[in-house]
Amino acid sequence: IVILGIESSCDDTSAAVIRNGVLLSNVTASQAVHEAYGGVVPELASRAHQQNVVPVVDQALKRAGVTKEELSAVAFTRGPGLMGSLLVGVSFAKGFARALGIPMIEVNHLQGHVLAHFIKEDEGDHDQPEFPFLCLLVSGGNSQIILVKAYNDMEVLGQTIDDAAGEAIDKCSKVMGLGYPGGPIIDRLARQGNPQAYSFAKPHIGGYDYSFSGLKTSFLYSLRDWMKEDPDFIEHHKEDLAASLEHTIVDILMKKLRQAVKDTGIRQVAVAGGVSANNGLRNAFREHADKYGWKIFIPKFSYTTDNAAMIAITGYFKYQDKDFCTIDMPAYSRVTLK
Ligand code: ATP
Ligand code: FE
Repeated sequence: IVILGIESSCDDTSAAVIRNGVLLSNVTASQAVHEAYGGVVPELASRAHQQNVVPVVDQALKRAGVTKEELSAVAFTRGPGLMGSLLVGVSFAKGFARALGIPMIEVNHLQGHVLAHFIKEDEGDHDQPEFPFLCLLVSGGNSQIILVKAYNDMEVLGQTIDDAAGEAIDKCSKVMGLGYPGGPIIDRLARQGNPQAYSFAKPHIGGYDYSFSGLKTSFLYSLRDWMKEDPDFIEHHKEDLAASLEHTIVDILMKKLRQAVKDTGIRQVAVAGGVSANNGLRNAFREHADKYGWKIFIPKFSYTTDNAAMIAITGYFKYQDKDFCTIDMPAYSRVTLK
């Protein structure tokens, strides 16, 4: 079984090839054009996808050493994401599959992030989560605790009621006048700062739900006050600010996750999505593994942010169930995990 995966939900155009569950290639074209705007500009994203999709797919096939005639199916991200971005990948995938006379498979982007834990780079034995496991999905658009019962059966135990963790980091980074996306910049600065230097408001919200908009406001107002005293406050303290912000977010995320582990009794805990690239969060996972005996799963950096390998592996699972879609399957900007 050879699956071509295509991802175009936001600002990365990516294509990957998986043969019998083993990843052969994963090619991503990122879009630098958005940096100047401090965020993704949807129209520019669609245009860049349009330019990138054919060369990226071509590269992915070449690097995999696979011809298009060898493909068994084409899997594509159906949503959630930006409509204009999704449409490029969805339309390309449909046309490509139809021309080759092979099945098409629609993939939920969030399911893809979770199943990134099943990407194998070689035939060997791999330490992969066993069902059921818990997954903290933290990305630019989502912050959820998911009970993963099977590859195609996921229950969202809790989620953010406002901003996502990655969104909060990006916005705070923007307030500090740092670049976009803020995640990797905050991560780098945080490594040199004191996480206890400042404290920011934490949400009081029940169950397994999250909230990050209050933290963002608290960060903004605190900065404003401090800058009255010292106009160059940010420049003087950016490492401590980044470390304290990261620490607060990681604390909020881990607290609810600990509760979910306690209540479900499930000690296999995975983390996924762009924010799982964060070193503070990765360290917190390792500390929890040591302290509470969790068996943790942390993805390789390349499978944290958007990539087509996670779409291809999800497509591989669905292929085995003959879970194909028809050509009238639309793109959806909003899709949930049930
Ligand atoms: P979704 O998957 O919810 O639709 P998305 O696809 O835009 O959203 P991802 O690509 O999974 O999100 O993740 C992007 C987010 O990850 C951004 O907010 C980015 O700042 C954040 N991020 C990336 N690297 C790091 C890092 N090292 N530390 C913290 N955050 C990071
Ligand atoms: Fe994503």
